[in-house]
Amino acid sequence: MPVHRVYNFSAGPAVLPLSVLEEAQRDLVALPGVGMSVLEISHRSKTFDAIIQAAEADLRTLGSIPANYKVLFLQGGASLQFAMVPMNLLTSGAVADYILTGSWSKKALKEAKLIGATHVAASTEEGGFKRVPAANEIKLTPGAAYVHMTSNNTIAGTEWHHVPETTGAPLVCDASSDIFSRPIDISKFGLVYAGAQKNLGPSGVTVVIIREDLLARSSDTLPAMLNYKTQADAGSMYNTPPVFGIYTLGLVLKWLVGQGGLTAIAKVNERKAKVLYDELDRTPYWRPHAEKDSRSLMNVTFRLPSEDLEKQFIKDAAAAGFDGLKGHRSVGGLRASIYNAFPEEGVKALVEFMREFEKKNG
Ligand SMILES: *Cc1c(COP(=O)(O)O)cnc(C)c1O
Repeated sequence: MPVHRVYNFSAGPAVLPLSVLEEAQRDLVALPGVGMSVLEISHRSKTFDAIIQAAEADLRTLGSIPANYKVLFLQGGASLQFAMVPMNLLTSGAVADYILTGSWSKKALKEAKLIGATHVAASTEEGGFKRVPAANEIKLTPGAAYVHMTSNNTIAGTEWHHVPETTGAPLVCDASSDIFSRPIDISKFGLVYAGAQKNLGPSGVTVVIIREDLLARSSDTLPAMLNYKTQADAGSMYNTPPVFGIYTLGLVLKWLVGQGGLTAIAKVNERKAKVLYDELDRTPYWRPHAEKDSRSLMNVTFRLPSEDLEKQFIKDAAAAGFDGLKGHRSVGGLRASIYNAFPEEGVKALVEFMREFEKKNG
């Protein structure tokens, strides 16, 4: 009997491809040819070595990651990267530039301030983080240790549609909520990090892609677990890595390869977002939060004419099988997160539901 699955619009942890869940379920008790669960195998076993190698290889192929970048699988989420980035890269006497485009960038800055000198190169907080800054609004520190940005602002629903210029400073990007939703030119970045639980897999594993020369900045005085160089030298196995998370991430990457890679998934993502934004632009009943040229293809944020209607919408939507649409409390309203694995027919079904809702409550 087929199980019942709702349309899961959660911002994270988020929907995974059904085929991935089915494969993980099928092989959970015993991996084929191994006779043990992936939950039980040693991280030093040949089986796990093959799993982590394949995940890294698929990540490298999908993202066209240049050979002079290391791929790390760490724990602690994107939030630990808020601290690890300055601990490793913000050398004494230097300044780190932060571009503030939402709540997550502010949290990243807060951690960096505990470590060293920072400078806010740009902020779009005024007006409620409705857009990313224009090039002429970004005031960089000459010789900055790095420039930190957030490529997709999960809470506000905005996204960069270009890579900002940093005049030589390494660009560090929190790509937690749009990594591999479209092609990415890794060579433009010094470091890219992402908690897996939005677009890559389950929570518990964090992907860090770091240019090799930056590893020289990691001081020996750092605790081993927080040191990029230690983690890179140990192939992400300084201690027990998140085995199940890496396994599931590997399945998601294989699924993504099967979808045709990043160019192909980007087309699907553009199509999905367009269906939803077209509806939001059709009638002033909907009030999209983000400015048009900064709209996120991953998290679509909008409000209704009143908070009562928003509550009603969330309630009726849940009853109709649409889950996770409540917006973050800092923005209010609704948020539809439509990551890679979110099915296209689910977006169309939501738009149908929205039209009915407007007719009934307009
Ligand atoms: C969810 C999210 C985070 C926090 O991720 P954790 O893995 O929970 O620490 C950070 N940045 C962005 C852009 C996010 O979407």
